[in-house]
Amino acid sequence: MSNQTAASKFSAILKCKCPTCRTGEVFTDPATSWNNYNKMYEYCPVCALRYELEIGFFWGAMYVGYGFNVALSVNLGIAVYLFGHNPDVWVYMSAIILGIILTYRLNFRYARILLLHMFAPKFDKIFIENINSVIKNQDASK
Ligand SMILES: [Zn+2]
Repeated sequence: MSNQTAASKFSAILKCKCPTCRTGEVFTDPATSWNNYNKMYEYCPVCALRYELEIGFFWGAMYVGYGFNVALSVNLGIAVYLFGHNPDVWVYMSAIILGIILTYRLNFRYARILLLHMFAPKFDKIFIENINSVIKNQDASK
């Protein structure tokens, strides 16, 4: 753990990493996991940040996810209009519903990750160096 290097903020969001140390995992399983795609660690395994910053923090992720779905629906609607030459309404509805169903796992995860990266304590290089030195000292004393 101590020889991991911190990622850039964009990379940390893309890889679903902790917003503070940018190395710890947020989710316990990959997005492809059938039952556990939504399981999160309670605390960051590297810097011990508690991910639920306050009670009900992740309720706010529903609004972020809603925004993702609106953006997806508008883009799919435009794509169906352009490539389908303005088909019947059921074609628009089918494309949008199918798109939402196919992306619900990514929507769930990235809504939470974006919310975390907006409100969690910022990346602090000195803090991370201190944590890494504590981990090294603990490893050396074993
Ligand atoms: Zn962390």
